[in-house]
Amino acid sequence: MATTTSSTPTPFSVDAERLSELGAVFRGPLVTPGDPGYDDLRRLDNAAIDRRPALIIRCTGPADVIDGVNLARTTGAPLAIRSGGHHVGGHGSVDDGIVLDLRDMNGVWVDPANLTVRVQGGATWGQVDRETQVFGLAVPGGIVSSTGVGGLTLGGGVGWLVRRWGLSCDSLLSARVVLASGELVTASETENADLFWAIRGGGGNFGVAVELTFRAHPLGPEIAAAFVLHPLAGSEDVLRGWRDLAVDADETVTSRAMLWAMADDETVPPPARGKEVLIIGAVYAGDAAEGREVLAPYRALGEPLVDMSELLTDYRFLQSAFDGDDTPVHSYWKSLYLDRLTDDALAFIYARALERPDPSILVHIPAMGGACARTAADATAFGDRSAPFMLSFDGMTQDPAKLAEVRDWVRASVEAARELDGAGGTYLNFVGDDASDRQVVHEQFGANYGRLREVKRRYDPGNLFRVNNNIPPA
Ligand SMILES: Cc1cc2nc3c(=O)[nH]c(=O)nc-3n(C[C@H](O)[C@H](O)[C@H](O)COP(=O)(O)OP(=O)(O)OC[C@H]3O[C@@H](n4cnc5c(N)ncnc54)[C@H](O)[C@@H]3O)c2cc1C
Repeated sequence: MATTTSSTPTPFSVDAERLSELGAVFRGPLVTPGDPGYDDLRRLDNAAIDRRPALIIRCTGPADVIDGVNLARTTGAPLAIRSGGHHVGGHGSVDDGIVLDLRDMNGVWVDPANLTVRVQGGATWGQVDRETQVFGLAVPGGIVSSTGVGGLTLGGGVGWLVRRWGLSCDSLLSARVVLASGELVTASETENADLFWAIRGGGGNFGVAVELTFRAHPLGPEIAAAFVLHPLAGSEDVLRGWRDLAVDADETVTSRAMLWAMADDETVPPPARGKEVLIIGAVYAGDAAEGREVLAPYRALGEPLVDMSELLTDYRFLQSAFDGDDTPVHSYWKSLYLDRLTDDALAFIYARALERPDPSILVHIPAMGGACARTAADATAFGDRSAPFMLSFDGMTQDPAKLAEVRDWVRASVEAARELDGAGGTYLNFVGDDASDRQVVHEQFGANYGRLREVKRRYDPGNLFRVNNNIPPA
């Protein structure tokens, strides 16, 4: 399986003659600077990141991926793999290199009898939910419908079902992966088990997942959710009340608190329009009628501005409740885990949220634990998942001139939060791409890091797949 690759990528360019030769090989369109659509195709979710690849290959299937990987390896071109393009550090693209754009590979096939779902590597969670919900099935994904299944799953995956069925990667049964050598292999518990271990948390370091097969779980279309918006000012009691419920919750309930500002438009009910809010969200992963009873205490906290729970009774609707519009957002995110959510921690988080330099910044506390925490740290590459809470400072602004201030605020917030009782670690799907972010990769994998480097040496010895939370080969 070993292969030789150039360890130093060299800028790549392609002239008209070469492009025409390549055009005869690839089934999907090849897009270069100056082509119509180039700027649209290279755009990432994070407007702060502006990469100009030399060639975007809009892959239509494994053959295009294999030839794209071979092209990058043999030319030494920097290579990025893009599915949803949501990585906040811009790992879905690369300057002067090749982007394998998987977005046209978005097929989803559900096998309701066997409770499995096959998903192509460029699909989004919205596309998966569309196909699975018809059968009353769900695969644990993220909370925004346009996020890519590929990046989110390979980096772990935390959503509304994390306490009931674990991380997204915990529902992965197998994957078809194009390696740096161009070989297409299966990774599962029984085939290339080391690769299967590594891709559940180790990100896109080991190859391109052209197909992922998941265990599907019975849920929806009707669900029970609590979704309650409180005025941010004076909401410390509500935050503490939510924490008490979350700590005692059965694992059928996954909840989160979000300190944020609502948009000032018709998508938001008038009482909360344009307001600074504390959102208490909770989802019951089971029978909807039963769930409404179980979630009642989450709706009974404090005196809300508006209770939207009755609007969120459809799983697909819930899964798109946080979808943004097309307004460019400049982002910088950082997170950590908390073993305890003490009153002091809540007071710190609340005070930080009040001091946000931009209302678009989201301070976010997803409850973890439950099924997620039952998997041992060494069972998948993801590492330690014992913490019952995550704390994420999702720095966002629509004003590019404000980004530096937002970034500094996020860094200072995380640094201060690291002093909290029981704080540690980082969720690698929520990191940017500066030196401090790259440092945390090693730390987060903990005792798994050495094994990951060995697996990387076996499957990608030349570090062809390096535009990611990179794990250098041993
Ligand atoms: C608006 C928004 C909401 C989010 N919500 C959540 C959430 O609810 N839960 C959560 O856990 N995370 C969430 N995230 C974070 C998300 O998990 C990461 O940003 C993830 O990297 C996105 O994957 P992608 O495929 O969209 O991104 P991309 O930028 O396309 O890719 C990200 C990385 O994954 C690699 N990759 C992507 N697809 C493949 C593939 N098929 N094979 C191999 N490598 C691949 C890429 O090379 C790159 O390194 C969110 C991010 C955003 C911007």
